[in-house]
Amino acid sequence: MDLYEYQARDMFAQHNVPVLPGIVANTPEEAREGARKLGGLVVVKAQVKTGGRGKAGGVKLARSADEAFEAAQAILGMDIKGHTVRRVLVAKGANIAEEYYFSILLDRANRRYLAMCSVEGGMEIEQLAKERPEALAKIPIDPREGIDSEQATHIVTEAGFAPEIAEKVAPVILKLWDVYKGEDATLVEVNPLVLTEEGEIIALDGKVSLDDNAAFRHPDHAGLVDKSTEDPFEARAKELGLNYVKLEGEVGVIGNGAGLVMSTLDVVAYAGEEWGVGPANFLDIGGGASATVMANGLGLILSDPSVRSVFVNVFGGITACDQVALGIVEALETLGEVAKPIVVRLDGNNVEEGRSILAEADHPLIIVEETMDGAAATAAELAGKQ
Ligand code: GDP
Ligand code: MN
Repeated sequence: MDLYEYQARDMFAQHNVPVLPGIVANTPEEAREGARKLGGLVVVKAQVKTGGRGKAGGVKLARSADEAFEAAQAILGMDIKGHTVRRVLVAKGANIAEEYYFSILLDRANRRYLAMCSVEGGMEIEQLAKERPEALAKIPIDPREGIDSEQATHIVTEAGFAPEIAEKVAPVILKLWDVYKGEDATLVEVNPLVLTEEGEIIALDGKVSLDDNAAFRHPDHAGLVDKSTEDPFEARAKELGLNYVKLEGEVGVIGNGAGLVMSTLDVVAYAGEEWGVGPANFLDIGGGASATVMANGLGLILSDPSVRSVFVNVFGGITACDQVALGIVEALETLGEVAKPIVVRLDGNNVEEGRSILAEADHPLIIVEETMDGAAATAAELAGKQ
């Protein structure tokens, strides 16, 4: 999960990383009020989960509450790289003397972390890495050791800070490591990390990605989820405990096991070429799924208006085909009127029981197919002809 800047800054503050106070505003009026409270120079910043806001006009300095109102008015509703701005952060403005760059990220390929630091912050880091790679220090971090004071000193030395600034930046790096480690982040980036005219080091921007696999260790992270931009089907799937991903197409796909579901997506995409349709989602009901899990999954898929047909592809292992069949019948009973055909291919554990349950139900919307390719072709055709 990626955080908004204001959430990242709150998290920084909890770990004693120096940040300037700010107020989140949904309207220009709230921005004016926020600027009045903060007093003096403020900066009004678009809250969108993408970089380059400054270049896009999404970051504006305001010298008065009325200027903050105008800045918010200009920024709210703005589109930045496909993200609509719904909120702004009104933060106390800094008098910037210098802009630096610092980040810690997960280096999967090398099974460690990577710290990156530069005395040339502010601009986009991809550009710096390309044009002046020597200006960006990259220091591998052993996950077993992390960043201690010695390592922090090494990082600032490699980045080329003058000694009197290096000794101010190193402690901030230690605190940012505390954020990374303590919150189970996969990315912590500060661009720019600034030196103010007053000689202080401050994190002026913050980008944090959290490792969702560690969510169980952080009950408080649940509160950071932005419900307003979450896909409603993905949100519902999460509530039901289903492994679901929304896709662009028209054929709903349900299977057991991630591998089988992925190959099902492939055959549906292939069969769908002829009809101009493709998979509408990924849904893995998992191993040993009960009739209820199947019914919940099918209910979710059928409620998606972009779905025109459904392909249920189950190879019974721990999952028994009769449970899957019962789930399909149960879903159709509880859902009542659903005029979407469901193509079913069952094989493996209890396949005969499963097929006879479907045969007995004799539902006009259920079509049983023997093979995966045959089922994909039928589901694609049904979606394409509607
Ligand atoms: P980004 O463009 O999305 O990375 O947004 P940033 O938060 O990094 O802001 C972009 C630029 O705006 C920074 O590099 C600064 O030059 C400028 N900026 C942001 N906050 C302040 C501030 O408090 N005072 C001043 N003077 N400039 C700021
Ligand atoms: Mn930035």
